[in-house]
Amino acid sequence: MRLDKFVMRSTRLTKQQVTTCIESGEVTVNQQAITDVRYQVHENNLIDYLGEQLIPRAFRYLMFNKPANTICSNVDGDYPSILNQINIEDKQELHIAGRLDADTTGLVLITDDGRWSFNIMRPEQNCEKTYRVTLSKPLANDVVERFEQGVLLSGEAKPTLPAKLKKISVEQAFAPDPSQNQQDGYKTQMPQQVLLTITEGRYHQVKRMFFSVGNRVNALHREQIGLLKLDIPLGHWRYLTQCEVNSFI
Ligand code: URA
Repeated sequence: MRLDKFVMRSTRLTKQQVTTCIESGEVTVNQQAITDVRYQVHENNLIDYLGEQLIPRAFRYLMFNKPANTICSNVDGDYPSILNQINIEDKQELHIAGRLDADTTGLVLITDDGRWSFNIMRPEQNCEKTYRVTLSKPLANDVVERFEQGVLLSGEAKPTLPAKLKKISVEQAFAPDPSQNQQDGYKTQMPQQVLLTITEGRYHQVKRMFFSVGNRVNALHREQIGLLKLDIPLGHWRYLTQCEVNSFI
């Protein structure tokens, strides 16, 4: 971690105050004054400010169940930021690991540990994200296979990576109703829901994937990231356990 970041995490000083105190030699690393804010410090270094040892605050890791009409941003925009719904200290230090659209609901990870979120989001990590998708019409028969092979999204040169698609809503069959003079049973179609698991995070990816096969997403809800499943009500948040945090490392 950079020295200025370390001092920020260990004090209540502003970024400007941190820069000033480092550049004026008030911060020592292993008893040597270091005046370069970019100097890299390591876990076993002893870092003092005006002779007092600095101990950084522990990182925080949260899951949040995002409601619709909120945005994954640190500031309000067309809709309120999800951070408005989280009542903890020093919210400005938090950021969102993997954004959702304003109308998408479900699992969002929030942290102040940049390395952890970078690791989750970097493409090489192939971190699986599972969405419950409500479609505007029944799924065509070949879509499971097409998503498995990868589809070309409009304006892009590379097809999507293999994605897993599972149909979860069923047609409900009803017996004939003699009072209605019906001869045959009839079927009614439940809203068409599927589970889609992808490993990428392209812009509006899920909506564009279904659009590319002639369907439309009516509702989108993220249920799982990696091994972590959403288990709290809409609009609520909780801290992750150490074990959950480590599952992404
Ligand atoms: N894909 C989308 O289209 N929207 C989201 O919010 C997330 C994934």
